[in-house]
Amino acid sequence: MLKLIKKVLKTGEATVAYPAEPLAMVANFRGKPEYNAQQCIACGACANACPSNALTMTTAEAGDSVRWSLFLGRCIFCARCEEVCPTAAISLSPAFELSVWKKEDLYETADFPVCACRQCGKPYAVQKEIDFALSLLQENGALSDSQLAARRVQYETCPECKKMHGLTSSDRIDIGRHLVTEAC
Ligand code: SF4
Ligand code: SF4
Repeated sequence: MLKLIKKVLKTGEATVAYPAEPLAMVANFRGKPEYNAQQCIACGACANACPSNALTMTTAEAGDSVRWSLFLGRCIFCARCEEVCPTAAISLSPAFELSVWKKEDLYETADFPVCACRQCGKPYAVQKEIDFALSLLQENGALSDSQLAARRVQYETCPECKKMHGLTSSDRIDIGRHLVTEAC
């Protein structure tokens, strides 16, 4: 018996006090995806990359807004969303206590206004994504103010109207892709 007690004392504690005490997670632990709607531009890259369809982008029936949605019940904590996000709006946190009373509490959503085409008025692309693309061009400093204004007209015009009004340029950005594929 004495031998056993000695061995136990030598080994030390093999268990943790959780949940009586908080559990320290290892570095790089992949827990709940944390989302920052302020930083999100609703580009849809995370929804395209999500292997379990936990992330989705859907267009409102009226076409005037796009909803970003995360359903934690489907998340497999793979971190693909974090890898592809161009604005670091989503990243996996150490949070692992994810139980809820109601299934609805596993959903997180954010709505983004959609820009109407300047020519035909049809809902075209998420306004925040257009603004983000233009802000990158502005930061780059390669374009003058008038060129930036012209670029805004291009980006806020749908592909059909661009063709009709000769606004298609060789460096166009395919901004409205998920509005076409995800429309409900
Ligand atoms: S961690 Fe993986 S499964 Fe979860 S939301 Fe991100 S991409 Fe989807
Ligand atoms: S990839 Fe990032 S910016 Fe794009 S929709 Fe997802 S969270 Fe938002």
